[in-house]
Amino acid sequence: MRHQAPRGTRDLLPADTERWQWAESRARDVFERYSYREIRTPMFEDYELFARTSGESSDVVEKEMYRFHDLKGRDLALRPEGTASVCRAYLEHNLASEGRVHRLWYLGPMFRYGRPQKGRFRQFWQVGAELIGTAAPTADVEMIALFVDLYEAWGFENLVVQVNSVGTPETRQRYAERLRAWLEPARERLGNDSRQRLETNPLRILDSKDPRDREILAGEFSDQPMPHMLDVLDDAGRKRFDEVLVGLTGLGIDHRVDHGLVRGLDYYTHTAFELHAEGLGAQSALGGGGRYDGLIEALGGPATPGIGFSIGLDRVMMLLEERGELPLEKQQSIYLAAMEGTRSQVPTMARALRLVYAVDYDLEGRSLNAQMKAADRSGARLVILLGEDEWEQGTVVVKDLSSGEQETVELEHLVEALDRRFEPSEGSP
Ligand code: AMP
Repeated sequence: MRHQAPRGTRDLLPADTERWQWAESRARDVFERYSYREIRTPMFEDYELFARTSGESSDVVEKEMYRFHDLKGRDLALRPEGTASVCRAYLEHNLASEGRVHRLWYLGPMFRYGRPQKGRFRQFWQVGAELIGTAAPTADVEMIALFVDLYEAWGFENLVVQVNSVGTPETRQRYAERLRAWLEPARERLGNDSRQRLETNPLRILDSKDPRDREILAGEFSDQPMPHMLDVLDDAGRKRFDEVLVGLTGLGIDHRVDHGLVRGLDYYTHTAFELHAEGLGAQSALGGGGRYDGLIEALGGPATPGIGFSIGLDRVMMLLEERGELPLEKQQSIYLAAMEGTRSQVPTMARALRLVYAVDYDLEGRSLNAQMKAADRSGARLVILLGEDEWEQGTVVVKDLSSGEQETVELEHLVEALDRRFEPSEGSP
């Protein structure tokens, strides 16, 4: 039987990986310039960690967790997201003792047992950031600026961030009641999940993807407009939210208040934000985040504010590929070609050159003609040909495959000749 990658997963072949690495390295650069430091946490954790932080009524916990027992019967789960793990590590290693404010970022695969469709996988990649230890509204502004600057580093333009405030648990409670009362007349027409959530957690109905629910949320069943979270915020929450908006405007970050924006997980407080893309259908969210002042306490730590976001790299890469906007790094590589009498020199020369350059060569003693074809296919910029006569005289031929130019170079000047040819390479980021 021939095997296939498990449903909802996929392979990134070398050509894909090169594009992903380009996007990842752009992200790294941005994080570094924002003074964020990378954290790597395990890909699986105690199931309880996610159950506790994702909230009992969230889809991820209810239906999508990759939960398993190991050989000792430990109850574990593949991580569905990064924030809970980062906060767990923050507490476990008492990062608070090393300074109050921590700026962290991560990148890695996440796992959710959802129904695969365009832009939705069971193993997907997220890049994200967490700013832990401050409740200052300026932290929210920095987070959103970082979020937007990542997309800009990947070449996205004209971005409009959607923002909302989900308040505090108390104001949210008040809002939940208003929302419940507003939806009550449409109760029978809601989807099954949403009808249940009307009792347990009406806010999550705003997240529903069910077309019937979306139609109801559009509000035609009622002569009252959908209640807005912002209208029930307390004064401090409202002031805070206004400060964030003013900060965004000050940085020239385009944003729009989206009253239907509530994050799917229960530990979020105050600012929530999201970015959507056209052309991805129901799975249009490219990334999102928000403040989670209640999370670290929920994990048994001291009350510690935090804010973060995560961006789905699969969707980002899909969009960049569809738009043909992925600059491919020009290969700065060399193909070493030889003739019968010089073949034995190749491995030594390749090893020396490989200290600096990417070098490829034929392993199978094929004809010069075959080697030149392989050089073309390899995408190498330069061929170094070890001709028999030239080698006798201590020279090689350097051929530039993009221009067709070639020159004979003395071995002792080879490195200079290569550097000269590689130097002003257009297109390399
Ligand atoms: P969330 O943690 O649900 O807020 O998701 C953050 C981002 O991760 C989303 O905006 C998507 O871009 C991405 N994402 C979430 N779930 C999936 C999935 N199953 N497959 C691919 N990307 C996903």
